Amino acid sequence: MTRLAQIIVAGGKGLRAGGNIPKQYSNIGKKPLIFRTLQALSDLKNSPRADIAEIQTRLIIVHAEHDRSFVDASIGEYLVTKVIGGKTRTESVRAGLECLKDNPPDYVMIHDAARPFISLSCLTDLIDKMKTCQAAVPILPIVDAVKDFRHQTLGDDIERIHLRRVQTPQTFHFDAIYQAYQSLAKESDYTDDIAVARIAGLAIGTVEGDETNFKITYPSDFDKAEAVLKMNTIQYPPSYYTATGSGYDVHRYTEGNGIWLCGIKIPANYTLLGHSDADAGLHALTDALLGALADGDIGDHFPPTDKKWKNAASDKFLAFAVDRLRKRGGILQHVDITLICEKPKIKPHRAAMRTRISKILGLPLSRISVKATTTEKLGFTGREEGLAAQAIATVVLPE
Ligand code: MG
Repeated sequence: MTRLAQIIVAGGKGLRAGGNIPKQYSNIGKKPLIFRTLQALSDLKNSPRADIAEIQTRLIIVHAEHDRSFVDASIGEYLVTKVIGGKTRTESVRAGLECLKDNPPDYVMIHDAARPFISLSCLTDLIDKMKTCQAAVPILPIVDAVKDFRHQTLGDDIERIHLRRVQTPQTFHFDAIYQAYQSLAKESDYTDDIAVARIAGLAIGTVEGDETNFKITYPSDFDKAEAVLKMNTIQYPPSYYTATGSGYDVHRYTEGNGIWLCGIKIPANYTLLGHSDADAGLHALTDALLGALADGDIGDHFPPTDKKWKNAASDKFLAFAVDRLRKRGGILQHVDITLICEKPKIKPHRAAMRTRISKILGLPLSRISVKATTTEKLGFTGREEGLAAQAIATVVLPE
């Protein structure tokens, strides 16, 4: 299996971008820039190509010593090796490579912290290039005219057709770039790693860069980054999945004067036995909702051993379950209850039951079904020993 290390170079002070803290730890879209960069680099595991998704990756952040608390506050759930950088970019990259030498990966990507929008397709192209080259770099043409300005006055045209802009991540066979860095003079400093690869004579390949993979440099770049983020959010809305939960409950008849069923009181010369009000209809429905949420069952949340729930009205249980659904960002679509009993006759009470459930759930009547059946005098319901209820709830939930 291919092993890849991804080194994020975050040692810079990032002063050109303004602000009180280095730009790589400033927020875009309410998350630190460097967190967005981690997110983008980690997108490899979401590749539709199995050979790419399976690559074993390891993240390294090279940062300034005094920025440690910023790093810790920025990385979220990502597992990151933190390495203290040097005075120059070259020294920082060398420190990053050094931490990998005892357990070397096949390839290493070296990326600017301030490029949070690297695309999965560019990452994939870079890795594919490793089959034929020791180094690979994303490049872009220059569309604007380019002039010599070295004397602070417009000079000759520079033929832009021969020029390319160079981005990161730059990607290397680990052994090759490690050796290349080892043989550099101690105080040398280079703009990027492909320059070091060139000096070492590595075989360098290029892939097409991406305009969106711009480097956040000036304060206005943060506005541009917010705009990109917004565009990406519109392109990829959060995905939802449909979940169906089922519930089942039984209560025994006993002497009494009336039963609670589906949230209403029905007069009778018997009642249902239970710790709470024994409303099997609402209990089954509560379990169906909890089932759709994969969130245990009614007994987990309202233990019958707890005196608090003695004779409790069961609409509380159902309201609790639907509240948990809404807190998860879910939407209740439909519920269907089947009551299985010889008595009482359900039909005369069906409209009242649906209305009551509609109130508890905040769901229109057209999405609430209450049905009834008997078991042809068979079994415990047939012998009129008890009443059974089953329910199904359909919900949609965010991934
Ligand atoms: Mg029950």
